[in-house]
Amino acid sequence: MAVVLSVSLACGSSDQEQDLANTPKKQPMSVVTTTALLADLVKNVGGDLVSVTALVPPGADVHSFQSTPADNVAISRAAMVVSNGGGLDQFLDQVIQRSTSDGTVHILAAKALLELDDEDPHFWQNPVFAVRYVESIRDGLIAADPTNADDYQVNFTEYKDRLTKLDFDIASTLNTVDPTRRHLITFHDAFGHLAKRYGWQVTSLVGSDASQVSPGPVVEILEKVREQGLTAVFAEPQFNSDLLEKAAEEAEVEIGPIYSDVQDGEVANYIDMMLFNAKSLARLLRLSAKN
Ligand SMILES: [Zn+2]
Repeated sequence: MAVVLSVSLACGSSDQEQDLANTPKKQPMSVVTTTALLADLVKNVGGDLVSVTALVPPGADVHSFQSTPADNVAISRAAMVVSNGGGLDQFLDQVIQRSTSDGTVHILAAKALLELDDEDPHFWQNPVFAVRYVESIRDGLIAADPTNADDYQVNFTEYKDRLTKLDFDIASTLNTVDPTRRHLITFHDAFGHLAKRYGWQVTSLVGSDASQVSPGPVVEILEKVREQGLTAVFAEPQFNSDLLEKAAEEAEVEIGPIYSDVQDGEVANYIDMMLFNAKSLARLLRLSAKN
């Protein structure tokens, strides 16, 4: 008899849970970001409370991106808009002036960091700086949706712990490379903050805005590769890597993948991207030089 009773109670409570699950929930808050990377950071702090759209499509270069009329519509419907700042996603400035409605919260994720460096806006390449990004995002979410402030704070704290672990994991992976080979040679100057954080040198073919391409530096790069006995240079998927490939071929070194601004099927989120980069650098630069 007791068994039967407990079964019927269990059924009753399950029905109640079902009823609760069917209660209509508040729609998630609409957030628009410029890049997929920022969208990932927002998802980690906003969780189920937000629905996030990135304007720059997967695989595209943010520096040369031009917004479309559909982007204006997305922004006009957003409760919060997140951009990087520092000249990375300037395309947004005009769209924002045209399309945001009153009360839309606009967050410049890198705002607190711009006084440290006004040259290189790729601050997220240092996970300690990424924590500053998610702090700005948390504050923006709380400003746009104060009733859920506690949830945003809890999510923020959990994600911050993951970023602290990420910093540690990157350092231990990169430290497996001989100090004389801690030199990242790549296409565009997006890795200065990574290099500073972990004591690496970085050389790139074009500036941090990725706008000017000239073959001049290739010769210089080849010299560095030879002098330092480097075993690899690194190409970013969103840029044509012909120049770099040519340099790698002439210097007889490997060409490996590295991600700066873009995510794709290989790296689906910020943390995966950073770990992928560290492993890619360590794997290819630990190799013995050919001569
Ligand atoms: Zn960039």
